[in-house]
Amino acid sequence: MSVTKPAQTKTEDINRTKTKSGKLLETIDDDVLLVNKLKQDIKVKSKVSTGGTGEKPEAWEENDVNLESEESKWDKDSDFYKNIDEKAFRQYDLACSRVREFYEEQHEKQTVAYNIQARINFKTKVRAKMTVWEGLERLNKLLDESDPDTELSQIDHALQTAEAIRRDKKPRWMQLVGLIHDLGKLLYFFDSKGQWDVVGDTFPVGCKFLKKVIFPESFRKNPDFSNPLYSTKFGIYSKNCGLDSVMLSWGHDEYMYHIAKINSTLPPEGLAMIRYHSFYPWHQENAYTYLMDAHDQEMLKAVRAFNKYDLYSKTDEQHDVDALKEYYLDLIDEYFPSKVIEF
Ligand code: FE
Ligand code: FE
Repeated sequence: MSVTKPAQTKTEDINRTKTKSGKLLETIDDDVLLVNKLKQDIKVKSKVSTGGTGEKPEAWEENDVNLESEESKWDKDSDFYKNIDEKAFRQYDLACSRVREFYEEQHEKQTVAYNIQARINFKTKVRAKMTVWEGLERLNKLLDESDPDTELSQIDHALQTAEAIRRDKKPRWMQLVGLIHDLGKLLYFFDSKGQWDVVGDTFPVGCKFLKKVIFPESFRKNPDFSNPLYSTKFGIYSKNCGLDSVMLSWGHDEYMYHIAKINSTLPPEGLAMIRYHSFYPWHQENAYTYLMDAHDQEMLKAVRAFNKYDLYSKTDEQHDVDALKEYYLDLIDEYFPSKVIEF
């Protein structure tokens, strides 16, 4: 895994976020997933060791940007650490500087203006016409071209996620979601501006950035941070307006959601899994609940059910692509009736 590599220098880190290649995309994506996995592990272990809910008390003001104090309080007078793998913490530290650099750029540049433009670009262009499987192969090929040493390809991750869901005898549509949930990373090779508008945790733009988003202090450089319209609790939205009315930061999730919504017969739960799988502030940290409507309550259960397969299947064995191809081609045809899709 990428986090076992030596720590990068600051200059290297900055270059990573600016250079455009599949390998760099994968490195940052793996790091981001690792951080989210660790956060999840901590919650689960906290639940087991304390018998509690595993959730932090809402003692602080949600909009008060100050993560440091929260982190220092977190391990006091508790047997919490007994069950924590310390190696995992060291990896978290290693991953942090690279992830921090990435989020500094993302949190500065994901503005309302950028998001509106990205959605206009999406609706006014056809970037490619191909089948879903060809899309997976294309993503795989491009990533391989940029780094022949990549251990885990996009198809590997897609199949690991899908096969883990299948192994648990989950519905066929959910298996397909596992297969295609990251296919939106194709965006990276079309018209993205870097990694910051493809991968990473997502968050709403147009309302106050909450401290439950990772590295919240980096939002200070975002022009929307001090915009009077966008910096209030509800911003351009209203209480319980529903997440469908909320603009989440643009990236592979939002892009693939729109592609799947237009071209597939996936149920709303499947579309939500694709759309919100990187919305960790929501599905893991319980933030922005005041923007949810009744439908989102149901979707949240679905997103959480999906999330563990995305996070934990990466450690599983690699699958034989050729042996599984036929099964998944059938599955794709079942839910993408037009076969050739406009990406
Ligand atoms: Fe993803
Ligand atoms: Fe994924």
